[in-house]
Amino acid sequence: MDTPVTLHTQVPISILGGSVNAQFFGFKGFDKHNEHFAVRAGRPDTEVPLVRVHSECITGDVFGSQRCDCGPQLQEALRALNAQGGYLIYLRQEGRGIGLYSKFETYLLQDAGMDTYEANLELNHPEDSRSFAPAVAMLRALDVNRCRLLTNNPDKVKQLRDGGIDVVSSVPTGVFLTKQNHNYLRSKVSKSRHTIKL
Ligand SMILES: [Zn+2]
Repeated sequence: MDTPVTLHTQVPISILGGSVNAQFFGFKGFDKHNEHFAVRAGRPDTEVPLVRVHSECITGDVFGSQRCDCGPQLQEALRALNAQGGYLIYLRQEGRGIGLYSKFETYLLQDAGMDTYEANLELNHPEDSRSFAPAVAMLRALDVNRCRLLTNNPDKVKQLRDGGIDVVSSVPTGVFLTKQNHNYLRSKVSKSRHTIKL
């Protein structure tokens, strides 16, 4: 990111069937293809709000795909944020940063027996090409310099800390197991030390 990221728009949107009155934030400094955004729900603690950093997964977030746990994770996060007050940072990095079409290709490889990380490597993508730098930039623009982070992913905590956000604690998220995402969740635990009890 070359240009500094600043707040641009704040829009009230009632979500989850009207159960959550949220504020959506748009920013300046991201290009058209990376329109990252933030969502505020509830009344965040001004000192140490709860934060969830979520990477886009169209199939899971929008269509409720059973291949992953993104949809239920997102909904759980929004409910927790609404109850405790906090921010969702939504990063438009589909498929761990490789894009939607490539994610489709990795699904085919997974159906042939590879796990999600092996499939990414087979297609010459890094195991995980997500960057959390835009999340740091958005939190700063929202004047959130300390937070409790809703995550099972130690690397996410580390990347935010490396970016200068004071992550006071990590709050574990729930486990959403389906017949089809079991292997995906298992490889998350074995390959990237996610703290999920399966
Ligand atoms: Zn997903």
